[in-house]
Amino acid sequence: MTFNKQHSLSDPVTVLSGVGIRLEEKLNRIGIINVQDLLFHLPHRYIDRTRITPIGTLLHGHNAYIQGEIELTQIRYGKRRSLLCRISDGTGAIVLRFFYFSRAQEKGLQRGLSIRCYGQVRRGPNSLEIIHPEYRVLDIHQNDELEEQLTAVYPSTEGLQQARLRKLTDQALLTLNNNKQGLIELLPGNILSTQNLPTLIDALKYVHRPPPDADVQSLIAGQHPAQKRLAFEELLAQQLSLLELRNELRTEHSPSFATSKYLVRKFLDSLPFTLTNAQKRAYDTIASDLNKTVAMLRLIQGDVGSGKTVVAALAALQAIEAGYQVAIMAPTELLAEQHYNNFTLWLKPLNIDVVFLTGKLKKSIRNEVENRLQDKTPLVAIGTHALFQESVSFAKLGLIVIDEQHRFGVHQRLALLEKGQRHETFPHQLIMTATPIPRTLTMTAYADLDHTLIDELPPNRKSIGTSVISNERREEIIERIKHVCAEGRQVYWVCTLIEESETLQCETAIETADKLTEKLLSIKIGLIHGRMKSNEKETIMQDFKNGKIKLLVATTVIEVGVDVPNASLMIIDNAERFGLSQLHQLRGRIGRGEIKSDCVLMYQPPLGELARQRLEIMRTSSDGFLIAEKDLELRGPGEVLGTRQAGIPDMRVADLMRDAHLLPEIQNTAKTLLVEHPDKVKLLIERWLGKSLDYSNV
Ligand code: ADP
Ligand code: MG
Repeated sequence: MTFNKQHSLSDPVTVLSGVGIRLEEKLNRIGIINVQDLLFHLPHRYIDRTRITPIGTLLHGHNAYIQGEIELTQIRYGKRRSLLCRISDGTGAIVLRFFYFSRAQEKGLQRGLSIRCYGQVRRGPNSLEIIHPEYRVLDIHQNDELEEQLTAVYPSTEGLQQARLRKLTDQALLTLNNNKQGLIELLPGNILSTQNLPTLIDALKYVHRPPPDADVQSLIAGQHPAQKRLAFEELLAQQLSLLELRNELRTEHSPSFATSKYLVRKFLDSLPFTLTNAQKRAYDTIASDLNKTVAMLRLIQGDVGSGKTVVAALAALQAIEAGYQVAIMAPTELLAEQHYNNFTLWLKPLNIDVVFLTGKLKKSIRNEVENRLQDKTPLVAIGTHALFQESVSFAKLGLIVIDEQHRFGVHQRLALLEKGQRHETFPHQLIMTATPIPRTLTMTAYADLDHTLIDELPPNRKSIGTSVISNERREEIIERIKHVCAEGRQVYWVCTLIEESETLQCETAIETADKLTEKLLSIKIGLIHGRMKSNEKETIMQDFKNGKIKLLVATTVIEVGVDVPNASLMIIDNAERFGLSQLHQLRGRIGRGEIKSDCVLMYQPPLGELARQRLEIMRTSSDGFLIAEKDLELRGPGEVLGTRQAGIPDMRVADLMRDAHLLPEIQNTAKTLLVEHPDKVKLLIERWLGKSLDYSNV
């Protein structure tokens, strides 16, 4: 065996037994290059196989380890072929459902066999069920003992099994025993003692292999001191890298756009409305940033519909008047096109060129646009990330506007900054987001940016009526859809699921669309979900926009910022299981036209007290920031907000919501380290963000 081999933590993973070139390639894919990386590849959840839950006690939403005897296995043909396997343990029965299965698998699930499985319980059409559980048929000749400790589950990639990862981490942990000096403690001793945190090595061992007597609840909730210790260090590294970046960027030289603002005034005169005070304030701040020769790096947060686009247009006009080019980037083709139409309408009368650049353009047109960018004429270029591809070069780029920032992660933003550096001067940057990000989060995820808030909506907004309705009244809602469509309006039906699995979310949307199609024969229904190709998604969105599709069934992939003013009703399924901020975002897709709009938050009864309060907030408030704060207040420990929706980079242990209370201390520590231990700063950043700092391939 390899036990007494002396590996060092910096050795490539190939020194570990069982790691050949193919496995190495897979490990590299998830950022594991050397032995130390394995130690920092932390479990993102745990499976409790230390006890079996009686089937009769299961509830919708539980993650459970169960055991039972197979009563029946059969293939169900229907719209979607599936393999159903019913098991029971004397306390109750449950169905295991497989959409993808092999012949061998079907054969293996024979009546009478005992089986153990793990998965998330959900309400099926006829009974509780688990879709695609992890399972194992029990061998009657063997005594199947329960696990003594929690099983760590690691983030993985295709073709890399959990068991494999566990074996490899075992080896890495052994290396740690022989190699204590290899892993330097980087947190100052006083922090460890005041915060009551374990050492790095103890913490790592604990989270990878929790001992049998571990506090299961606190580990599963991510509240154990060992996790806190690692989260502290991760957030610290994150904070340090952002501070360093910020300092670096503030040394860049940018062109000053000190102009007469002639174009700005002319544009304002042409608008059919006057700016809100919040818009005025935001633009004043931007205007003074743009006068300076230091790069502007500003985040504008403004609720859905607060009118951020106009503010961006003002900034663009100032750059144009100073003789510079402006690039405006949206996260999708559809949004880019929407901006293109708006800007064309606004700027053409001022004789300003507006061009459009996305990956979908024909080669010849694309070349033509690219040629124009190489010309020094001031213009506004609007597009997707195609704007920043290698082949594109701007002759005189002065301002970059990035819309709906939270669709891009911090990393993508940094990649753009890098591209900006190809120009002789550094373009100013304006980043716009509709996600109301609580202050603690802005402090971390956007520590490299300055912030401006647009905290006011334009007057005369049609309010959206929000109602909270049990899904037992589905039929009524279906009638309402008929009614709305008959009046020539359109409807969104959003299927939300909080599951980690994108697949499951899509299954639900497909199922829902099927059911609705049966009930609404005369209404043209479209379906959009994350597993569709992006051109398929766009065709569907386009058809919805031009009214061909009347009812759009969607997962939460539906575009942020999409403007279909004719859509006046939105139904959100399982609304109780969703983050309030995201509900608010979704709801912002309606109420964009002349007609009064309605949002129906449909829940699955019974509704718990917390869920009831949360939905009540949605019903009574339309203030994105208030909603975000309440959400944070009410959120119980361990409940996780998808980091992606807030544009926060994926982290290994830290959870910005859960660990928000650590942030003030982390910020202090970061400042101290920068001054007193610059050597540690570098090591911390490398340890936690090392590889992801290569932004070129995002
Ligand atoms: P968002 O901040 O969500 O991106 P938009 O910029 O798309 O919002 O603006 C939403 C709508 O409000 C647009 O139709 C825009 O023309 C309009 N609008 C913007 N500012 C004002 C204002 N001050 N008064 C009235 N309507 C406005
Ligand atoms: Mg917008």
